Amino acid sequence: MNFELVIITVFGLIIGSFLNVCIYRLPREKNIVVPSSSCVICGEAIKPYDNIPLISFLILKGKCRACGAKISWRYPFVELLNSFFYLLAYTRFGLSFELIPIFLFLSTMIVITFIDLDFQIIPDSITLPGILIGIAFSSFLFPDPFELNSITGFINSLIGFIIGGGLFFLIALLSKGGMGGGDIKMMAMIGAFFGWKGVLTTTLIASLVGSVVGISLVLFKGKNRKTAIPFGPFLALGSVITLFGGHFILKVYLG
Ligand SMILES: [Zn+2]
Repeated sequence: MNFELVIITVFGLIIGSFLNVCIYRLPREKNIVVPSSSCVICGEAIKPYDNIPLISFLILKGKCRACGAKISWRYPFVELLNSFFYLLAYTRFGLSFELIPIFLFLSTMIVITFIDLDFQIIPDSITLPGILIGIAFSSFLFPDPFELNSITGFINSLIGFIIGGGLFFLIALLSKGGMGGGDIKMMAMIGAFFGWKGVLTTTLIASLVGSVVGISLVLFKGKNRKTAIPFGPFLALGSVITLFGGHFILKVYLG
């Protein structure tokens, strides 16, 4: 049990380190495999021993060894967040093959969140393969967020894909560009993984949290109502809450 916890924590940190590469390179349309990482300020290649997730950041006190430029706290944060999500998934679903698509889904949500925060885009290179992978995994492995010991299922996944994409396509039409094409494809992808109940719950949570944050920004930060707030991070948050809490939410709702 403890050994498994350690393995999953370390695995989450290592994948988290790779997610940082994806977050930086995908929106810039760079290859995520080669070349190896280099300092974004001085361009010096980062040595393998300076590229250990979390540890290197602490040893180097958050500075590049070559030029001394500050390294963003976001790098270790993304690594920790990914590791935390993996541990949550392990606690909730146990050590099983289900963890493969669940880890994949959670990491994808982290990457989308930070790219959307930085660039206000959600790359097709993530969501389009994500839709296909979602439908494939839902058909035999991905757990239904609302039913214990049950998979989403192929038909439910297709309905989720259509409802997720369709609903947001409608919102995009009605709001005349208030919702981007990236959000539509992201919801289609979440629907493909979760099925129709999950995609609706995700939308509901994302809208609630998004409204609270939006109103707070207007009230306390002096933003006006036209300020564009990327919606991807809220959808990602809604989906993670749904994945881990769907069963519980349904029980409370029915109760
Ligand atoms: Zn440097």
